[in-house]
Amino acid sequence: MDFKNITVAGSGVLGSQIAFQTAFKGFKVSVYDIDDEAIDRAKNRIMNLKVRYQQDLDAAEEDVNLAYNRMAFFTDLSEVVKDADLVIEAVPEVVDIKTNFYNQLAEVAPEKTIFATNSSTLLPSQFAESTGRPHKFLALHFANEIWLNNTAEIMKHPNTDKKVFEDVIDFAKAIGMVALPLQKEQPGYILNSLLVPFLEAAQMLLLKRVADVETIDKTWMIATGAPKGPFAILDIVGINTAYNIANAKGEAGQEEFKKLANLLKSEYIEKGKLGAETKEGFYTY
Ligand code: NAD
Repeated sequence: MDFKNITVAGSGVLGSQIAFQTAFKGFKVSVYDIDDEAIDRAKNRIMNLKVRYQQDLDAAEEDVNLAYNRMAFFTDLSEVVKDADLVIEAVPEVVDIKTNFYNQLAEVAPEKTIFATNSSTLLPSQFAESTGRPHKFLALHFANEIWLNNTAEIMKHPNTDKKVFEDVIDFAKAIGMVALPLQKEQPGYILNSLLVPFLEAAQMLLLKRVADVETIDKTWMIATGAPKGPFAILDIVGINTAYNIANAKGEAGQEEFKKLANLLKSEYIEKGKLGAETKEGFYTY
């Protein structure tokens, strides 16, 4: 792996974090977004990240400033990818936006450039053709608060080159991530393939009034040694997100999920209990 110049496209919540972490680990990072307002928002986010790195990681002020100095900001796609070894795409989770982005990127990126998508729910094979270089394309999926939750799920699609896969694994390690390779496409990667059914099973126990929240969590924690139970995890994820997932399944005709969505709405969301962020959800904080 001899990546030097990294481009991050889409500088929102995750893009800003990926860009700053990459610069913090010594790479030159070019950040791309659609207009100056979006870039200003990214710069603000990065100012906040500089503070968080000092608070959470004990990073020296000098080091976070050096990281910032390795970053450059662009609104011109051909400029930002001119010498890119790797483009990490973190544009909105909307199929049309991503497809258009890859169509444009394919026209201006040098042949050497590898493309990686940070998509949480869409599969890379869905965009492989639009990239114009399916063998140099794969998923590189980070978690929110990347400097603390340092997982990187690296997922091939059927036409990803082995060498590209290995290089991106090495890159993930080089920016301080625990690299988690997936040899096959899997919706939800590893984490959500495990977590979503687990959290749903817990919520169904609550819906059926089999036991209360505390009893369900206690059972899981004591029996497995896990530090948190499913409802404590749901409070961190946020009850709106749990509602959106249940509601989508309800609308797709799954009756029990319709009931679950109603429960989450009437007993939690409408009472302002959205999880840890609002100091109250299944638990009070
Ligand atoms: P966001 O809405 O915070 O940021 C998206 C950014 O993309 C914005 O700055 C927007 O201006 C920019 N953008 C819009 N159209 C663009 C275009 N055509 N070209 C370039 N930039 C464009 O979204 P986010 O939460 O950072 O999510 C981005 C991606 O990361 C999604 O695919 C999402 O699934 C994934 N992701 C998000 C999280 C999370 O917790 N937020 C975690 C892991 C992965």
